[in-house]
Amino acid sequence: MAVQKFRVYLGKAPVTIYSDHVAVDRLYSGKNLTPRLIRWALKLQEYNLIIKHTPDKENTVAHALSRIKLDENGNQIKCAMLTSKVLDPRETIIAELLKDPDFGDIYAYLKDPDNFEHVDFAAIRNRARNYEIIDNLLFYTKSTNEIQELTPAIPATLWLSILQELHDSPTAGHFGIKKTVHRVHKAVYFPQLHKIVTTYVRSCKLCQLINNVNYSPAGCLNSIRVTFPNEILGIDLLGPFPQSELNKNRYLLVIAGHFSKWVEIISLKRASTKIVADAFLHKYILKYVAPLKVISDNSRQFVCQMFQNLCKGHMKMVPYRPQANITQS
Ligand SMILES: [Zn+2]
Repeated sequence: MAVQKFRVYLGKAPVTIYSDHVAVDRLYSGKNLTPRLIRWALKLQEYNLIIKHTPDKENTVAHALSRIKLDENGNQIKCAMLTSKVLDPRETIIAELLKDPDFGDIYAYLKDPDNFEHVDFAAIRNRARNYEIIDNLLFYTKSTNEIQELTPAIPATLWLSILQELHDSPTAGHFGIKKTVHRVHKAVYFPQLHKIVTTYVRSCKLCQLINNVNYSPAGCLNSIRVTFPNEILGIDLLGPFPQSELNKNRYLLVIAGHFSKWVEIISLKRASTKIVADAFLHKYILKYVAPLKVISDNSRQFVCQMFQNLCKGHMKMVPYRPQANITQS
């Protein structure tokens, strides 16, 4: 309800509401109201409202704000962004559209299909079915329910200004990825919209500085202290390499001791979880001794349950820090 949204502004001040909705009138004067209408009427008692009925045709102020313009074919044209100062002047958009690698050919085809020549003529003609030129601007057409939406196609050179307007401007409010994607999607069209908006929002400096993060902060990096052989091992998988002639091996399991710097290299035919765990058990643990701790990267062969069961003191490396694992440094 609108009055709830404007509650802080309304207070107890007398407010006149002009509405073409007959049911709202009945809330105050009607009899035999349903329980839901009674609840609504009780909520409205909180305010000092004077509700006046106005015919539909005369309620022009509200209609100007609530009704979206339709073109002569009944299509809904989403061109709010085109009136924004961002895309002014429109000649710039048209000039950029013609140069754009995605829309240039489509625009040229739709402008003059009879004289259009291109190596990929059929492909461009197929793509052009989703577009329409209205008033020299290119619109992407999308059918939702019974109405066809026309969203302005924006050339690559103007993406940045659109994203700045819809994410950075004081009225945009630096919303997150989901809301910004939704907002851009409603206003304009360009290929790979989701990916481009996601990258833009993630790289926004202000968002990175101010926004709350919902994960724990990175801990301090310490040097690894090791006091005896086989206390800590580094383990890593290398490959795939060209297949060996003798045993048809393609992978190498590298195991290195942090204390002794002793390196064991075990060749493997495949790099499946079972084969890696089996090789580590039979060719290292049973041959020497079980280590207290094992450091590995986050590859699937080492983070799986089978490997976790094999080494209780398993530590996974921090991403992008190869210095932590002796086999990688
Ligand atoms: Zn931001």
